[in-house]
Amino acid sequence: MKAQILKQVAPIDDMPLELVDMPTPQPKPGEILVKVSACGVCHTELDEIEGRLKPKLPVILGHEIVGRVEKPGAGANRFNTGDRVGIAWIHSACGKCNFCRGGEENLCPDFQGTGCQADGGYAQYTVVSEDFAYPIPERFTDSQAAPLLCAGAIGYRALKLTNLQDGQALGLFGFGASAHIVIQMAKYKYPNGRVFVFTRPGQKEHQALAEKLGADWIGATGETPPQKLNCAIDFTPAWGPIVAGLKALENGGRLVINAIRKEEKDKKSLLELDYSGHLWCEKEIKSVANITRQDAREFLPLAARIPIIPEVQEFKLQEANQALILLKKGKIQGAAVLKID
Ligand SMILES: [Zn+2]
Ligand SMILES: [Zn+2]
Repeated sequence: MKAQILKQVAPIDDMPLELVDMPTPQPKPGEILVKVSACGVCHTELDEIEGRLKPKLPVILGHEIVGRVEKPGAGANRFNTGDRVGIAWIHSACGKCNFCRGGEENLCPDFQGTGCQADGGYAQYTVVSEDFAYPIPERFTDSQAAPLLCAGAIGYRALKLTNLQDGQALGLFGFGASAHIVIQMAKYKYPNGRVFVFTRPGQKEHQALAEKLGADWIGATGETPPQKLNCAIDFTPAWGPIVAGLKALENGGRLVINAIRKEEKDKKSLLELDYSGHLWCEKEIKSVANITRQDAREFLPLAARIPIIPEVQEFKLQEANQALILLKKGKIQGAAVLKID
């Protein structure tokens, strides 16, 4: 099969992904071999390529995979050959630890990320345990479904972790791939609530999209919204929005941080944290890590019902480096997807 392989960490501008011919993997017992038709391109891949996250090396990246079952391994009977399936960031978890048994397999110490600790979808084929693949609703094309498997599923988990109730006020800090999906979910699930979107000053395109998707108020991070926030989600790589978010929270409110890492550079904003203004009165702060299978299983049909149809820009497998360079420069319209034949 053809695959894009990362052999060593390097700046994306050096185009470190190499297109190679390699043996097609074979499904072990309980696994399925999937012929990949689309794989989303995510910022996490830039972190892996440039060394901010540590994947196994060499690795085939990609954790937003849509394809068809080519061959079930021994004992795998959940899907038929030809069924369309999705594979998300959770490639496996141990199934035995307290987290796994308590429905928090996203926190398992043996959590394996697709395209990180296990090979992913920047290839014509991939293998995964049948228990970690999901049916894809008819509503979506392969390319449309791909971005839902990362930005959508994690956004779903973040929204769930806020404990938002209908009628309450939700604040979204940063308005990229995940937030633009979350606002659609929030408006659908909590029709009597209000959603306030905070962006960097001058992010006109993000603000226009937020308005189109029904934001009740749009402002710059640090501005005072029309009412206190019962819940907030921070989607940014910065620290400032955490401080601004805590300040804008209502008593007893919760801020969920949906970011795999935070940049070091503006960490000094945290010095503005003040106990009485930002934390007192039972304000909570919580991060969201990975996803569970249940998140993916609940989110995909919900996305089809709403419906949430992502805008995608397609690239060929050969163009993976170029797609990632454009992603880094912020030049992708919607979500980038590798279309693989
Ligand atoms: Zn991702
Ligand atoms: Zn476990």
